[in-house]
Amino acid sequence: MSRYAARRDKLRRAFRKAGADALLVTNFTNVTYLTGFSGDDSYLLLLGSDDILISDPRYTTQLEQECPDLETEIRPPGVGMVETVAALAGKGHVNKLGVEGNSMTVALGEQIAGGLPKSQLVTTVNLVEDLRMIKDREEVAEIRRAIWQAERAFNVIRASLRPERTEKEVADELEHQIRLYGAKCCSFPSIIAVGARAALPHARPTDQKIGADDFVLIDWGADGGPYKSDLTRVLVTGKIPPKLERVYRVVLSAQEQAIAAIRPGVTCHDVDQVARGIIGKAGYAKNFGHGLGHGIGLDIHEAPRLAAKVHLKLEPGMVVTVEPGIYLPGWGGVRIEDDVLVTKTGCEVLTTLGKQWEDALVR
Ligand code: ZN
Ligand code: ZN
Repeated sequence: MSRYAARRDKLRRAFRKAGADALLVTNFTNVTYLTGFSGDDSYLLLLGSDDILISDPRYTTQLEQECPDLETEIRPPGVGMVETVAALAGKGHVNKLGVEGNSMTVALGEQIAGGLPKSQLVTTVNLVEDLRMIKDREEVAEIRRAIWQAERAFNVIRASLRPERTEKEVADELEHQIRLYGAKCCSFPSIIAVGARAALPHARPTDQKIGADDFVLIDWGADGGPYKSDLTRVLVTGKIPPKLERVYRVVLSAQEQAIAAIRPGVTCHDVDQVARGIIGKAGYAKNFGHGLGHGIGLDIHEAPRLAAKVHLKLEPGMVVTVEPGIYLPGWGGVRIEDDVLVTKTGCEVLTTLGKQWEDALVR
């Protein structure tokens, strides 16, 4: 059985448990996870025993290449998706059709309900997302590749950082390098934030020059197609600001100790608290305003989130970022982010770039 068929099998058990006798997968990333099909605009309908990918003629050839074993229903021009879903569900005698509550719009739900007057819609939540949390060996290998691409690209731009270059130019060069190392693109728009702009956790690159301050925060990742990586490093490009070194060492210690706490059975909350405790003790509790990390995989942000309110226990195969930060408005910020695999006995840091204070010093 292919890895995709095995996933659909697991999912079939899950939606039956949720009270549905069929499931319509409308989240395109979930469709990819369950079939290997990398296009979009296509839904997957899981019936009692049949799995049907509903697509349109633009994807006929791609579907033959990417999922030759899967039954497909290619909608002819003029035949709508809802119509097709209703016809297939009717033919399959579906009484309770599960739908994906996380992603389906109210409008689509109403249209499908209208097309299936004899069936009941059952809203399901996180069925595929829960499966996606645990990565298999191939998925981990693909994440490692996306990390490798991101790290090689970073090393190139690190070596060529010049004071006269702008944040935007560095971001463009980083993206170019990521592609040269074989990635499809960046996994999200890179953050290149000089000095005070590093206080904005989601700063977008501007025309600010690298030389405008003594340090720069870089948050980037590669979309290896389809798996993604996500890293952050701070580089000191000018003279060493003593305050930066103090803040950096607090963040590094929070990150290292949080990683040391990661193992199966520990909750996301607990890991978040380790980092938060260290940052709080140093007097920066109010300056760490986001969760400690998030899952990565087909999406750059996915379950599980490492956050105070998440009491889910970590399990082997989960891949999460660990990215504590301290942000001081008007001065700047430090965040250090690595990608970590939960293993049977603890964890493995998949990222390999140095992150000690000395590693941050460019010249
Ligand atoms: Zn990041
Ligand atoms: Zn992140």
